Amino acid sequence: MHPRTQRILQRLEKLGSISDAPNCLSRFYGTTAHIQSRKVLIEWMESAGMTVHCDNIGNVRGILKSKAPNAKHLVVASHYDSVFDAGKYDGPLGVLLGIEIAQQVSESGQDLPFHLQVVAFADEEGGRFNTAYLGSGVLAGYFDKTWLSRKDDAGETLDSVIQKMGHHIDLVNDEAIPKEDWLGYYEVHIEQGPVLCDKDLPVCLVSGIAGQTRVDIHWKGMAGHAGTSPMDLRQDALCAAAELTLIIEALGKKHKEKLVATVGKMIVGPNSSNVIPGTVYHTLDIRSMQDHFLAEMVAYLEQQALTIAKKRGLHCEWKVMQSNPSVDCDPQLSAALEKGIKKSGVRELLSIPSGAGHDGVMISKVAPISMLFVRCTDGISHNPAEYCSPEDIEAALFASDAFLEALADSIK
Ligand SMILES: [Zn+2]
Repeated sequence: MHPRTQRILQRLEKLGSISDAPNCLSRFYGTTAHIQSRKVLIEWMESAGMTVHCDNIGNVRGILKSKAPNAKHLVVASHYDSVFDAGKYDGPLGVLLGIEIAQQVSESGQDLPFHLQVVAFADEEGGRFNTAYLGSGVLAGYFDKTWLSRKDDAGETLDSVIQKMGHHIDLVNDEAIPKEDWLGYYEVHIEQGPVLCDKDLPVCLVSGIAGQTRVDIHWKGMAGHAGTSPMDLRQDALCAAAELTLIIEALGKKHKEKLVATVGKMIVGPNSSNVIPGTVYHTLDIRSMQDHFLAEMVAYLEQQALTIAKKRGLHCEWKVMQSNPSVDCDPQLSAALEKGIKKSGVRELLSIPSGAGHDGVMISKVAPISMLFVRCTDGISHNPAEYCSPEDIEAALFASDAFLEALADSIK
């Protein structure tokens, strides 16, 4: 194994040990572990020879400046927040690979025809405030100020957390790289699916990212005594939420070739065994590569929710929190990445779409994007069993080095 691969593995272990939860990995935006991991990333980027700063949303950004006149930015990035009970590769792997390829450039004294900016995004999963792509949103200039009033489960606002992190909300909008200064975006990420395992390949190109809509659904019924309220006089919010949840599952199964739909979070009030649930909040996450179809299915589900509410005599609030169209990876960047993959000795070129959302969705609003997937065992992710072999990480590293070289050649 190459010492650079070893260094990535050691750093993955180190980052994987920085957690807010005692028995598992959890690193939500703005927590103690999140801030601690940021310090470590700053150190590593500095030791790789980059000029580093932490921006006003908490993105850690290291730059190797080019001497070329009118040089643009190639951003190599991924995220350093995690879901609850996460694996250690989702996000950090792409950040650490970025640091490693930058260190190689810096140590060789090479002057690239573009600025190489490695970014560790502060929030991609959106686990605390349901703000997926918060970090990349800022880099792309799409920070939405209405997010500031969003609250976490403890009632703290995003606004307050950003300030506690020592950042200035007024300056967040200045952190974006202007559209005309972008050369492109590159991210290495674990596949989070089974295709690479199935094909027995270490890495592959990503052709595009599926569109995604996130909805918050609030049901308001009537809490009541579980023993004295007759069954036909109830306004049970949980039963309404459960009915909708099964409709969502059925819809996903009916269109399984082009749609996935999930209710992943549900909070029942008052959540007591002898009280009829009076309120329920839950989420809907729905994705497809076909934007028009996705919008149609979201509208259909909203209609179903309203029908259930009417039938059961409850109130239902349907709030679309985020809606991103599908995006395609850029042909020119992908051509350079193809060369990189070939040069690194991978026996077959494969290109697949990503069902999972990535920061490239946000960045695609201002710049061409490209992505490389790395095999993860059995496609498992968002789970402590998530695993990438050292050999596959090394293949991703060499393919990324060669991608950078091919891109530089294409510009000179
Ligand atoms: Zn990720």
